[in-house]
Amino acid sequence: MARPCTACAHPRIASLNRDLVAGVTNAEVARRYGLKPDAIRRHADNHLDEEQRREITLALRTERAQAVADALNEGDVEIHRSLKRVVTEIDSLLQRAKADGNDPLALMSLREMRNALMDLAKLTGTLQNELTVNVNLNESPQFIVLRQMILRVLDRHPDAKADFLGEMQRLQIGHG
Ligand SMILES: [Zn+2]
Repeated sequence: MARPCTACAHPRIASLNRDLVAGVTNAEVARRYGLKPDAIRRHADNHLDEEQRREITLALRTERAQAVADALNEGDVEIHRSLKRVVTEIDSLLQRAKADGNDPLALMSLREMRNALMDLAKLTGTLQNELTVNVNLNESPQFIVLRQMILRVLDRHPDAKADFLGEMQRLQIGHG
């Protein structure tokens, strides 16, 4: 006769399963829910099937994507600030090129400025309107394109690029 599972009988079984799928150790789960580690191990091995794990994984992923979208929508996004800084830097480059009578550099700066401004406008609009839905940013084609575009502009500005990448890492956004 199989012993009744104390985990399955636990009033917070849903939360317990979530912790297991999220990678919390059996010992820690046992501690959190006041059960024995052996009971947790048996439960994880025998009662938490692949489909349940998949569903929970998906739910965790959706929540994380929403958290990222929320963070991006908060308005004080570092990306935004970095791009603004890029525009400022390009502007000073442009002023210098003009003062030096360096037309090719001035033209190039203008082109970069236009790109950066377009990126900034897109970021402002796109982030607020489109990222409120549940998406995994790492799999969003729009986001990947946007990210590549930003990185291209930032290639000329190592400091801003480092800031940007740091922020992306903080938000746990991968490299697409
Ligand atoms: Zn169980």
